[in-house]
Amino acid sequence: MRKEKTIIIRSPRLRKIRNEFRVLLKLWVSDVMTSLLQKDRFENGPKFQKEISKLSLMDKLSICSCLRCGYSDKDMIYRPDMKQWLCIECNSELVYFAKLRTELQMNTSVIDEFFRRLSSEEGVGIRNIKHSSIRCGGESYPLSKEILSRMGVKQEVQDQFLELCQHYRGHCDCEIVLNVASVFLEE
Ligand SMILES: [Zn+2]
Ligand SMILES: [Zn+2]
Repeated sequence: MRKEKTIIIRSPRLRKIRNEFRVLLKLWVSDVMTSLLQKDRFENGPKFQKEISKLSLMDKLSICSCLRCGYSDKDMIYRPDMKQWLCIECNSELVYFAKLRTELQMNTSVIDEFFRRLSSEEGVGIRNIKHSSIRCGGESYPLSKEILSRMGVKQEVQDQFLELCQHYRGHCDCEIVLNVASVFLEE
């Protein structure tokens, strides 16, 4: 499939039927996989390995469940760029943060400088001190905010940047260094 495609079912009755079909299909897949695994065990050799991995991939990428949240009772959207189905909620979240990222008014050199300063003695101190003595200001990001302010980053841009950091699993100053720096630097 090349195009984005959204499938929304509004009728509660039809939703129920759809969800039951999804459960059935999942049960069928796991049944077939179990029997293939058992055959492999009895016949002393991984004869069905290929079929098993093909089936598990098809199951993973099917419309039956969202690859991100794992729920299988939601309306779904196909993302051709990711070649997978996501639920509408997960997709909206990804779209929102992708937009926030492209619109962020901080260029690469500013972002690099921020991460360098946050990991240094000025911030959490990962560079100079051993891991055990990391400083962390907690969930309100005081160390990050101080550095961003010293760098002259506007309040509004700071808020957007920290919202993105939270999305990338940076829930405090030290997690920004540990989890988020690599996401930005790998771009
Ligand atoms: Zn989802
Ligand atoms: Zn922390």
